[in-house]
Amino acid sequence: MVQNDLCSFVGVKTRIDCGLTEAKTYDVIVIGAGLAGISAALRARHKGNSVLVIEKNAHPGGKLDVISEKGYRFDTGPSLFTEPYLVDELFELFDKNPRDYFNYERQEDSCTYYFTDGDKIRLSEVNSTGLSTQDEQEIEDYLEKSLNDYETVGQIFLERPAIKPVEFLHPRYYKYYGYFTSSRMRNSLASLNAKKFSNPKISQIFNRFGTYNGSSPFAMKGLFSMIPSLELKLGTYFPTEGMRSIVDSVYSLATEVGVDFQFGVHTTDVKKRDPGYIVQANRKYECDKLICAIDHLTFYKKILKDNELLEKYKRAPRSSSGLVFYWGLNKKIDELGLHTILFSDTYKDEFDGLFKDKKTIDRPTIYLHNSTVVCPQDAPENGQTLFVMINIPAEESISSERRAFYRAYVIERIKKDLGVDISASIQFEDYQDNYRIMQNTGSYLGALYGANSNSMKAVTNRHPNTIKTYKDLFFCGGTVHPGGGIPLVLRSSKIISELL
Ligand SMILES: Cc1cc2nc3c(=O)[nH]c(=O)nc-3n(C[C@H](O)[C@H](O)[C@H](O)COP(=O)(O)OP(=O)(O)OC[C@H]3O[C@@H](n4cnc5c(N)ncnc54)[C@H](O)[C@@H]3O)c2cc1C
Repeated sequence: MVQNDLCSFVGVKTRIDCGLTEAKTYDVIVIGAGLAGISAALRARHKGNSVLVIEKNAHPGGKLDVISEKGYRFDTGPSLFTEPYLVDELFELFDKNPRDYFNYERQEDSCTYYFTDGDKIRLSEVNSTGLSTQDEQEIEDYLEKSLNDYETVGQIFLERPAIKPVEFLHPRYYKYYGYFTSSRMRNSLASLNAKKFSNPKISQIFNRFGTYNGSSPFAMKGLFSMIPSLELKLGTYFPTEGMRSIVDSVYSLATEVGVDFQFGVHTTDVKKRDPGYIVQANRKYECDKLICAIDHLTFYKKILKDNELLEKYKRAPRSSSGLVFYWGLNKKIDELGLHTILFSDTYKDEFDGLFKDKKTIDRPTIYLHNSTVVCPQDAPENGQTLFVMINIPAEESISSERRAFYRAYVIERIKKDLGVDISASIQFEDYQDNYRIMQNTGSYLGALYGANSNSMKAVTNRHPNTIKTYKDLFFCGGTVHPGGGIPLVLRSSKIISELL
């Protein structure tokens, strides 16, 4: 305002405008300070670039946010941490010891599963319980194949930009043809699991790994049978200061090595410069290379305003979203480990409800996470944190009545399965649903992982890390190649740093 008044008063608007609003220039600008954005910024900085990260929230982290209230601390998003070496790599790039920044522990137990008939199975690296010798053998065989697939076929998808179908004609891929034409690629994950396990309960446990990228095991291909090896072969971990310490530590490294940040600033517009981009946020910026580290659909819709690309990519159906309750309890549920599943007895219906007929799910599977197993400081003495998550469709909003219904349902299931009534023990509570996830992180329709992987087409058509029409624009993060979740998000930043 002051500037405009001054400009019209002196009558040299253009020149003064140019002088006062002269764009600040960086080699690289990153939109979004989630884990993808910060790690992409670090990698760009490591190559000697000047780097600015623009974030709409007042703090970094995106989906890895935190709630601290009434003596309770909750990580709001991820709770399962695998392949921690991918975080460590960021510190090692700058010759720093990651342990000076954050620490984590390997967890012996992966998860305990409760079934509605009272059965309970605990999968652990050392002493699983509830399994027959045959179950144990079948799981071992399955995981060996799963790990082998992950370390061979998996790497050609995950460690480099997406491969175009025509590229598969190259002789370097001949050795994978057997795999690509195998029943794994033709059949669903659920039908593969039904063949591999004689116990339907083990099959159900291994179906659940399909939810790790927000998809349906009854639709996604058996290709995804490589996911369990991450947790059950390579191990699950948990940071001693909670998941949020992953973000805090990489953010602290980024500021130390000279990455600039602007917080509380929405990026509202991006225009092509030749070469590079003009970025409109709290002021005008210019850069040679632009990194989009937010949901690509939100970027096309709200920032680049490219309807053609928006229409093209929004055709892909979204992954699931989540209804998450954060409950601070004034008592402990002793049986509760770090990760627990209370399975529904209508597992297939649940996925039909999420992706197919969109019918409301009345008896969903419940995920419980108790961070105080590793971080006792997260709750007052004799108390406990309880992170409760139910999968919900990305498109629909959950009414307050429905939320209250699920709240009561969870309390009832905990009473039945774990034998503890927590109804009068919730001292603090908050929640997140698809609408809040969308508001907080810019995630299109509140989907947790961008598009789902329910078909082979969805897998091969995932949004790439670069697009032809926009030179020097790079995409990383949970909605683009190679996928969502912490390890893949970190890989996407690594892939684009090699393309920069
Ligand atoms: C409830 C929940 C549970 C999950 N569980 C797991 C799990 O157990 N394990 C796992 O590995 N993964 C899990 N995930 C997925 C994981 O959190 C994400 O894949 C990952 O954090 C995505 O990181 P990102 O940096 O790509 O995106 P985000 O974290 O979404 O970051 C994007 C950032 O961009 C900012 N932004 C958006 N629009 C603008 C704009 N116009 N201008 C400036 N900034 C903008 C946002 O505010 C945000 O900070 C979970 C996610 C959720 C929500």
